[in-house]
Amino acid sequence: MITLDSSYTTQTLTPERIWTNCLKVIKESVSPMAYSTWFLPIKPVGHLNNVLKVELPGNFHWEWIEEHYKSLITKALKSAAGDEAKLEYVVVNDFEHEAEKPKNQQSVTLQEKTAIPLAKPGERIKNTLNQKYTFDNFIKGEGNQLARAAAGAISDNPGGTAFNPFFVYGGVGLGKTHLIQAIGNEILAKMPNKKVIYLSSDQFTVEFLDSIQSNKANEFSAYYRAMDVLILDDIQFLIHKEKTQEYFFNIFNTLHQSGKQIILSSDKAPKDLKGMDERLISRFHWGLQADIQPPDYETRMAILSKKANDFGIAISNEILEYIAANITSNIRELEGCLIKLLANVSLNSKEITLDLVKKSVKEISTSKKINIGIDIITKIVCEFLSVEENKVRAKTRKQEVVLARQLSMYLSKELTKSSLKTIGLHFGGRDHSTVIHACTTIDKLLQSEKSFKETVVSIKNKIETVCS
Ligand code: ADP
Ligand code: MG
Repeated sequence: MITLDSSYTTQTLTPERIWTNCLKVIKESVSPMAYSTWFLPIKPVGHLNNVLKVELPGNFHWEWIEEHYKSLITKALKSAAGDEAKLEYVVVNDFEHEAEKPKNQQSVTLQEKTAIPLAKPGERIKNTLNQKYTFDNFIKGEGNQLARAAAGAISDNPGGTAFNPFFVYGGVGLGKTHLIQAIGNEILAKMPNKKVIYLSSDQFTVEFLDSIQSNKANEFSAYYRAMDVLILDDIQFLIHKEKTQEYFFNIFNTLHQSGKQIILSSDKAPKDLKGMDERLISRFHWGLQADIQPPDYETRMAILSKKANDFGIAISNEILEYIAANITSNIRELEGCLIKLLANVSLNSKEITLDLVKKSVKEISTSKKINIGIDIITKIVCEFLSVEENKVRAKTRKQEVVLARQLSMYLSKELTKSSLKTIGLHFGGRDHSTVIHACTTIDKLLQSEKSFKETVVSIKNKIETVCS
């Protein structure tokens, strides 16, 4: 170890040189990922009386360093500036408006821990929002009034309203994804420096599992804890994923404590999320829960007129009324119907007649079935019931495998147009009577067991979301 006389050090070593030497030692002891995440953003800003002053981009960063790398930094510092050398941290708390505002600097000592997420100066995160979802093209109606109003307030003042977390729930195709992404887009339009991230809970889970496999769960967590706005779609997909929930719980706490905005969507109200950690459910109640109901007739008409206009197709009121009267429970299907008409007009040069519309409406209700395949049904059922997918196609007669197999058969019958024979073939070449038996067994279970019925509803929702 190089030991230097402190007076000598003070006079001749620049902060940059000391820090560069520290980095050399540190680099040898940590992974490249940890090195670039935690050490490269640190800036040496002064060196006086053998105290090296370094600037960190946030309290969370500082906390992390103190918790995980304190002895490494001490060792590096000693080797770079002598045994007596000391370190002083300066934490910059607000990088968002760095360009406009003078720096809000604050020296901290070890005791003053307040968790403020990591925020690297000037760092832009990848925009994961779909630009097409805006408030402008989101039609207000009775069913979404509260959710829409709260969304507006949040986008004016993310993290600063009582609506944190903002929990939007409702059935498939009612505009949850549209609304929560519109909030993100609006925030970025008004405050481009905000770190806004949108992702589905499925993506979140996959990323989390990847991070565990590559020993990077801490980096995963740190990344999300550094956001100003976290938008997590379809939170019901975290059900029964305990480990992912646990990490999400910690991320949630950090963000909430530091006044960052959390926006969640789900197909059911928090209290109905069976299989979700109770601590999370109670936190979902902290802010605002707003449901989105299926649109009433007027709203359906308004949506149809607006979308027809956007698509540039002229459709008579009579036709719009027919669609609005016949597609009642799902805005995605209303849109789907118009797209079908648009295709007929532009590709087949057909005129929009009531007959054509009737055909399109009918196709919409069966097209759902076309999109859904036996394989995806089986995959989702097995995922929910924690059964290996290949086992349902094999001969196993283990109870849980039999249940997964029967439920997959039942849902294949209900959600696809496949014949009993085809369904049987998908499950290891079983014959049609086995499929009939499966359907009657599941029917009985659905009538007698409430919790089973709830699971099946969740599975169906997931299948419809994935296939739509
Ligand atoms: P969910 O997430 O609830 O399943 P989506 O947000 O994906 O539903 O909405 C389905 C489709 O319907 C999207 O194309 C969306 O733009 C459209 N949509 C939903 N609600 C509205 C609305 N109020 N106004 C305009 N379009 C809407
Ligand atoms: Mg959605």
